[in-house]
Amino acid sequence: MHDPTRTGNEFFVCDFCRRHWATDRPMVEGHQGSLICGPCLTTAYATVVNPAQGDAGARCTMCLEARPDNHWASPAHPDARICARCIRQAAGTLSKDTESGWWRPA
Ligand SMILES: [Zn+2]
Ligand SMILES: [Zn+2]
Repeated sequence: MHDPTRTGNEFFVCDFCRRHWATDRPMVEGHQGSLICGPCLTTAYATVVNPAQGDAGARCTMCLEARPDNHWASPAHPDARICARCIRQAAGTLSKDTESGWWRPA
């Protein structure tokens, strides 16, 4: 999400942990300014994509679709959820970006 009351790095806020952008916290943008940061993506990837689990059928914060895929919902902000497709997509984006310092969890 974007915080219109802030500028610079603090304008960009992860929907899942509500922390702002930083050089050690790369972010991937979804629809309507939704954002997920590297640490949240790591948790999401490890929780949902590796073992198939999570809540099915809820609306994804990133693609705004209610897909039958598994989701990861943020423990701190359970209204923020990301579907397995967006997790894979964001993981692809961040792991291609060598400056992000992000790696897929084993
Ligand atoms: Zn985050
Ligand atoms: Zn999605």
